[in-house]
Amino acid sequence: MTTSVNLAPSRMAMVPFVSVDNMMKLVNEIGPAKMMAEIAGYIEEDFKRWQLFDKTPRVAAHSEEGVIELMPTSDGETYGFKYVNGHPANMARGFQTVTAFGVLARVDNGYPILFSEMTVLTALRTAATSALAAKYLAPKGATTMAMIGNGAQCEFQALAFQEILGIKTVRLYDIDPQATDKAAENLAETGLEIVKCASSEEAVAGAQVITTCTADKQYATILTDNMVGAGVHINAIGGDCPGKTELHRDILLRSNIFVEFPPQTRIEGEIQQLDPDHPVTELWEVMTGAAKGRVAPEQITLFDSVGFATEDFSALRYVHDQLQTRKHFVDLDLLADPDDPRDLFGMVRRAKG
Ligand code: NAD
Repeated sequence: MTTSVNLAPSRMAMVPFVSVDNMMKLVNEIGPAKMMAEIAGYIEEDFKRWQLFDKTPRVAAHSEEGVIELMPTSDGETYGFKYVNGHPANMARGFQTVTAFGVLARVDNGYPILFSEMTVLTALRTAATSALAAKYLAPKGATTMAMIGNGAQCEFQALAFQEILGIKTVRLYDIDPQATDKAAENLAETGLEIVKCASSEEAVAGAQVITTCTADKQYATILTDNMVGAGVHINAIGGDCPGKTELHRDILLRSNIFVEFPPQTRIEGEIQQLDPDHPVTELWEVMTGAAKGRVAPEQITLFDSVGFATEDFSALRYVHDQLQTRKHFVDLDLLADPDDPRDLFGMVRRAKG
């Protein structure tokens, strides 16, 4: 594996485009679990070269219904961004809560080298990041995960934790039993033991890892303090916007908290409920060995996940590498490229025929 993106000049004006259809072909050809493990490898590599990246909290446009965000970053050679929305009321209206697309581009001339759907890819990279963080933070030998919120992200999370952490049992709960039935059916042939639960309290019983992955644009309390026993790892996915959290504040006060990029997580994560200087550890520090992850069996570790631009960059980098051998893309005529760079008007004029 190399961290530099192949910037071969062929098809320079054509941009490989990965549609949803082609992304699904890629996922099914590689296998979702293997693909998430491989994406996790790319994410880990990029976290380990954290200092190289341009980092900024994502640019968010909030509305009553949700949020539209741009997530840019660059490692100096390659630039990437993702467009993503989060609209908790969408599901009831028949739309996805989260949809996304993204771009990788050369820094040296600004030309895009990949344009991709990222709704499926976001689910893959989110689950890959969660399981990767858990590899450093969850109690040793964890076998059971509670999965609260059984929507679009759920099965990806379950599979990534099976593949990367060795989880064997997933205890599902959703306020909508149909969502739990859907997840249980999708996971039926994965080798995971699936337990459908009637409440969050039932779901967390005996779980060493608790994943919260619900969608509600408000301060929700998916977990209360009494539900979290010593030694548990919490993977909190759904609190990722100002005013949108999932955990009771008291849980945060008992936990060692790990985050992606503090300036973004302080705005969007569970820790928006805490003082602005409450101590947190950055994930990249744990991965490079600059900081400790789990240090004691009784410790409660919390990954306050909001999703950061470098994770999307890593996922796009992975897809770009895959396209070198797996031709699941079409060339998109996205960039005007006149023979004489100054003759843009002439190109338009001649096209008239
Ligand atoms: P979704 O709408 O498909 O699913 C959410 C599920 O949560 C629904 O099935 C809903 O019934 C359930 N739910 C709502 N309130 C609940 C409660 N109190 N208890 C139990 N279940 C409840 O959404 P999704 O695409 O699966 O995303 C889930 C959350 O993850 C969203 O908030 C989204 O913004 C967030 N997300 C975070 C990241 C990240 O990187 N951290 C990435 C993608 C999505």
